[in-house]
Amino acid sequence: MAKVVVLRLGHRPGRDKRVTTHVGLVARAFGASGVVIAGVRDESVVRSLLKVRELWGCRDFFVEDGVDPVEYVERWKKGGGVVVHLTMYGVHVDDVIEHLRSLGRDLLVIVGAEKVPRVFYELADFNVAIGHQPHSEVAALAVFLDRLFGGRELRLICPDAKLYIVPQQRGKKVVRVERSDGLSP
Ligand code: SAM
Repeated sequence: MAKVVVLRLGHRPGRDKRVTTHVGLVARAFGASGVVIAGVRDESVVRSLLKVRELWGCRDFFVEDGVDPVEYVERWKKGGGVVVHLTMYGVHVDDVIEHLRSLGRDLLVIVGAEKVPRVFYELADFNVAIGHQPHSEVAALAVFLDRLFGGRELRLICPDAKLYIVPQQRGKKVVRVERSDGLSP
C-alpha cells in the first residue's frame, strides 16, 4: 500500500485540541504515515502526538502544523498523489474503496472541523462519505482507514515501540522494552 497522510482542516487551538489530537492518534494507530494540521500551529497537540509516538513507536510517523492546506493539496496532486475528502455529502465509501486501493497511489485524506471551504470539495479527486449522517471526523477517519487497510492495521505493533500490549481476556499486560537501539521487541 502506498503512503497515506491525513490533512486536518479548521483546527481551532484551545477548542479543538482534544479532537485534533484524536485525529492524529487515529491516523497513527490506523496505519497512516503522518498528520498535517492546516493553517495554525498548536504545540500542545503536536507535543501530545509525539509523546505517544515516543512510547508506542513508529518513529516515521510525522506531525506537521501550520501548513497552508491549499498549497499542500496542490503539491500533493502535482506529485502524483490522490486526494480524498471525507464528507457526508460524498459517494458511499463502499462504492469507491476498492478503486482507491487498486490505484496504488499515495493518498491524502482530508477531514474537516466546522464548515469545510468549497475549494476542498473541488480540489478533492474523491469526496467520500462514511454513511450520509453527520458524525465526527475521528469516526470518519477511523472507518475510512479501516476499510482501506482491510482491518490489518489493528494488529499494529511498531518495531521501535518502548511499550506494547499483550492482549488478555482480563487485566492489563504491558511490556516495557528497555533499549536504545530501536530494534524489534
Ligand atoms: N458541518 C460540517 C460540514 O458540512 O462540512 C461537518 C462537520 S463534522 C463535525 C467534521 C468533519 O467530520 C467533516 O468535515 C468530515 O470530514 C467528517 N465527517 C462527519 N460526518 C461524516 C460522514 N458522514 N462521512 C464522512 N465524513 C464525515
